[in-house]
Amino acid sequence: MATERIDLAGLGLAFGEASSVEGTVAVDDVVLGGQGYRVEPPEIPFRLDVSRTSTGYALRLRFDTVIAGPCFRCLEAASVEVPIDAREVDQPETAFEDPGEGPTGEGAEAGSPYVDSAAVLDLESWSRDALILALPERILCSPDCPGLCPYCGKSLAGADPEEHRHGEGGDPRWEKLRELG
Ligand SMILES: [Zn+2]
Ligand SMILES: [Zn+2]
Repeated sequence: MATERIDLAGLGLAFGEASSVEGTVAVDDVVLGGQGYRVEPPEIPFRLDVSRTSTGYALRLRFDTVIAGPCFRCLEAASVEVPIDAREVDQPETAFEDPGEGPTGEGAEAGSPYVDSAAVLDLESWSRDALILALPERILCSPDCPGLCPYCGKSLAGADPEEHRHGEGGDPRWEKLRELG
C-alpha cells in the first residue's frame, strides 16, 4: 500500500532529534504538452528524513522515478529517469523579532503547505509537486533525437538521410510545396 500521509507528530521526536521513514508513494500520471506521461513504478520507494526543529520540522524527501511517454521531437516511446531530492521546512510558530521587518499578516507563518496544523504531512501532494518541478524541459527518446522530417513527417532516427532530401538542391516543385505549407 502506498503511503499518502505521514503523521510527523506521531514520530515522537524531541527538539534536535531526527528520524527517517521509508515506504512507497504513488504519483498520478502527468500531462505535458497535451501528452500523457506515465510515472513508474506505480509505487515508488521513498525515503523521508525528518528533523525536529525548535518550532516545527525540517524535511527531506528522496525518490527515483521514471517518466515514460512520447518523445517531444519524434513521438516514439521515450523514458527519462527523474531523481527527486526535495526539502521543506515547517516552522508554523516562527516569531519574528521585529514584526516590522518580517512578512506581515498570514505570510508571517512559515508553515509548509504540505503539513497541516496537526503536523500531518501530505506526502502524496508533495511528491507530485516535487516531481513536476524536477521534470526535464523536454522528454526525448535520446538526447540527440533528430526528430521528424520537416517535409514528410517521418522519424529521422535511423533513417537514410538520402531518403529525406526530398529534392533538396533545386527541384522547384518542392520549393512551391514549402511555400504552400
Ligand atoms: Zn525522439
Ligand atoms: Zn522526409
